[in-house]
Amino acid sequence: MSEPEPPPPPEPPDDEAIERGRKLFAQPCTFFFGAQQLDQLPPPGLPEIAFAGRSNVGKSSLVNALTGQKALARVSQTPGRTKQLNFFDLGGRLVLVDMPGYGFARASKDVKEDWQGMMFSYLQGRPTLRRAMLLLDARVSVKETDTQAMELFSKAAVPFQLVLTKADAVGAAALAAKQQEAHTLARRHAAGHPVVMTTSSDTGLGIALLRAELAAFAA
Ligand code: GDP
Repeated sequence: MSEPEPPPPPEPPDDEAIERGRKLFAQPCTFFFGAQQLDQLPPPGLPEIAFAGRSNVGKSSLVNALTGQKALARVSQTPGRTKQLNFFDLGGRLVLVDMPGYGFARASKDVKEDWQGMMFSYLQGRPTLRRAMLLLDARVSVKETDTQAMELFSKAAVPFQLVLTKADAVGAAALAAKQQEAHTLARRHAAGHPVVMTTSSDTGLGIALLRAELAAFAA
């Protein structure tokens, strides 16, 4: 059976939306909570956007590029804080949640199941969570743990959007193929957002668009 035609993609953000994104992300972004256990989550308040991806996908670099601050990298590199959910307040209008990186090759089965269990509970039980940004490295093939993460979001009924990172590090043809692959993957999941974002923290590619996309959720 042939697949149904996809609906046309939503319009890209206009200049006003880009400007709203710029202004929001020019606000201070401050770490305010680290949760190692789910009974320790901060009370739900502002709308939340979660960032997830394999270790080394470029998550810290991306959030630093978005906020123009090094706060996230510092917090994420603090021993003990890498394995927790880190909450950042952006200008009192949006909360960015840094999810621990998954996909450690050497992690034991128990550790992997632990990660899934804890993330699932967070995803499912968080009424303020508006979207999860799932980062994929444009240079490397999609791994089973990535598709598992997509399934986790779908099962928890959390809309997720795929974001390609390190787009500067691949050629145009490889990037186009990657975008196509990501698009197909997103469409395979009910919770997958039809627009795949393409970014580079090194060159700034896609950062303004991503800010605009996220600013739409700000209080
Ligand atoms: P995290 O573990 O997901 O937080 O990943 P990091 O942000 O620490 O980045 C992992 C590695 O990828 C580092 O060596 C970064 O320098 C590199 N990296 C991150 N973003 C980019 C990018 O946009 N382009 C390129 N070429 N490398 C990047």
